[in-house]
Amino acid sequence: MTKGKLLYEGKAKKVFETDDPNVLLVAYKDDATAFNGEKRGTIKDKGEVNNRVTNFLMRKLEQEGIPTHLVEELSPRETLVKRVKIIPLEVVVRNIAAGSLSKRLGLPEGTPLAKTVLEYSYKNDALGDPMVNEYHIAAMGLATPEELRTIADYALRIDDFLRGYLKDAGIDLIDFKLEFGKTADGTIVLADEISPDTCRFWDSKTKAHLDKDLFRRDLGGAEEAYQEVVRRLMGE
Ligand code: UDP
Repeated sequence: MTKGKLLYEGKAKKVFETDDPNVLLVAYKDDATAFNGEKRGTIKDKGEVNNRVTNFLMRKLEQEGIPTHLVEELSPRETLVKRVKIIPLEVVVRNIAAGSLSKRLGLPEGTPLAKTVLEYSYKNDALGDPMVNEYHIAAMGLATPEELRTIADYALRIDDFLRGYLKDAGIDLIDFKLEFGKTADGTIVLADEISPDTCRFWDSKTKAHLDKDLFRRDLGGAEEAYQEVVRRLMGE
């Protein structure tokens, strides 16, 4: 598979065409941004961690019956994925209050939620990714009601599986963000990434952050924490 022209460069990844029109190549970068791009930096080897952790978890999810965009890991930083049309929604799943939910609802970080919370944001940088509900999503035609039911069902099943899987690795899954895409034949698949950039991972014992909050909040130790996630999941 040869790397073709650069199709898109985002904050954390580059996407290239390949000689197969249905397959794209994703290359993960070490660049880190937060607060809609206002804060910038790098976390050494983050690209490798996020690529490998994403693929590792997506393979597990495939075994659980969740379709994903994953085709093949090419190298520590590069992966072939199915070409999909990204549904312009950020799907956030929350088990424990943290981050923007804590601020918005006045719930101290670490407060368990009696029911898993699903939130949607409209992916639009210029608008700052505003939160939307199922009515907005239907009104704007961002996804059909049936597509949204599939997305919600997958998101909750992903949460169920990952929560248990990570618990065994000594990690509490506080919350995370998912993105879904549609293949040429209309199938909804999990896309984007599942990594310390997009999840809040807390050490089960110490409750220490093992995720991007170390960067967002200038706490230090992000590089080591990202490596620790690899060690715990992949035993290295
Ligand atoms: N998240 C993400 N990308 C975003 C916004 C949020 O990956 O653009 C993830 C974030 O890492 C966390 C979860 O979604 O695991 C919930 O984030 P929250 O809404 O609390 O926003 P934050 O506090 O990160 O601004």
